[in-house]
Amino acid sequence: MSVLENSYQGQCFCGAVEFVVTGESVGAGYCHCESCRSWSAGPVNAFTLWSPESVTITKGENLIGVYNKTERSSRKWCTVCGGHLMTEHPLWSLVDVYAASIPDFPFTPGVHVNYAATVLPMKDGLPKMHDFPKELGGSGELIAE
Ligand SMILES: [Zn+2]
Ligand SMILES: [Zn+2]
Repeated sequence: MSVLENSYQGQCFCGAVEFVVTGESVGAGYCHCESCRSWSAGPVNAFTLWSPESVTITKGENLIGVYNKTERSSRKWCTVCGGHLMTEHPLWSLVDVYAASIPDFPFTPGVHVNYAATVLPMKDGLPKMHDFPKELGGSGELIAE
């Protein structure tokens, strides 16, 4: 449900944690990396990227668990239901809000990242990056579908 213009409600699996994303998404797409697959227990992560100011926890902030496997990613979930919420990328000043946790956001994927690691090839005509774009420290290399 949209609360304000360009504002989208998000929540965990059980609803104990709620949040709002506001403004313009910086980008959206699919990540095929091993970390996303292992963390999500799924073949691919549908991500939406936001600046940290765009994301506000509105309920259950004390119920959020955080795990840092590396300094690049703070993975957050609801400690009541285990449902995943988002990953903060402090070095990039970006928050990856999983598309599935903001169902009313008009998810428009623009790119596949870490496609070299894919276990679920997707022939959708979108650009397929070997790893990450150059501006995020990757090779910027594109690979064929
Ligand atoms: Zn929950
Ligand atoms: Zn990933």
